[in-house]
Amino acid sequence: MRGKIALVTGAAGGIGAAVVRALGSRGVTVAALDRDDGGLRETAAELSAEGAAVTPFTVDVGRSDAVDETVAAVEERLGPIAYLVNTAGVLRLGEAAGYSDEDWRATFAVNTDGVFHVSRAVTGRMLPRRAGAVVTVASNAAMTPRAGMAAYAASKAAAEMFTKSLGLEVARHGIRCNVVAPGSTDTPMLRSMWRGPADRTGTVEGRPDAFRVGIPLGRVAAPEAVADAVVFLLSDAAQNVTLHTLTVDGGASLGA
Ligand code: NAD
Repeated sequence: MRGKIALVTGAAGGIGAAVVRALGSRGVTVAALDRDDGGLRETAAELSAEGAAVTPFTVDVGRSDAVDETVAAVEERLGPIAYLVNTAGVLRLGEAAGYSDEDWRATFAVNTDGVFHVSRAVTGRMLPRRAGAVVTVASNAAMTPRAGMAAYAASKAAAEMFTKSLGLEVARHGIRCNVVAPGSTDTPMLRSMWRGPADRTGTVEGRPDAFRVGIPLGRVAAPEAVADAVVFLLSDAAQNVTLHTLTVDGGASLGA
């Protein structure tokens, strides 16, 4: 993977930063995208100090014009993008019966539209080069219903199927598209769901009142565990893998 160029969205977040670090440590040059300008600059500075080649680009993936401009700027400054990782995501909890239009649209704007905007812009450039690999970080919530997460789950299911359908279209051009479906992973997004230690325990041990079975491996994932799965799917070790979902949830969705 050494010397290749990767574009990673959501790079200031828990999983995104772990992906940037994992790629950087393998000699990949990374364009790190996020809409959180301060967080992004902090993450890029930290990873650059560790020796990774990371360039920050501040952009809202929900805006297709801005995404097109940023992808063009990445190729101009760094070179041809070989790897794309769609990690940017938002979680707005709420039961469907009372869910607001604003929360629904904001969820889809990032989790679904964002994946479409960035994947379209990047694969459009990969096609004539006849090479590239895409990984979308979706969620095990795309295949296992979770109370209070209907919009999130629907947005992730859409992003997952978009990624696989895109993968079908570009397969004959030598481009692979896969999905990583994390379960509970220790990041700011997961912690935002916890109001105290009981919630953390409930995540691992299960909550019958919420129809959650818990995590068979008995632990919340470290962001690095998700990043390892992303790196595998991008790498030549997965050269014959496409249209696949790799679930990294400690068994929480019981292999569904
Ligand atoms: P996080 O909140 O730490 O990181 C998400 C990042 O996305 C943030 O840096 C945020 O600024 C960025 N982002 C949000 N909207 C954006 C936009 N419009 N444009 C550009 N950047 C934007 O969350 P995380 O846990 O690291 O999540 C990473 C991905 O993994 C998300 O897609 C999330 O849905 C998915 N996921 C997380 C978990 C978990 O338990 N943490 C489980 C399953 C799936």
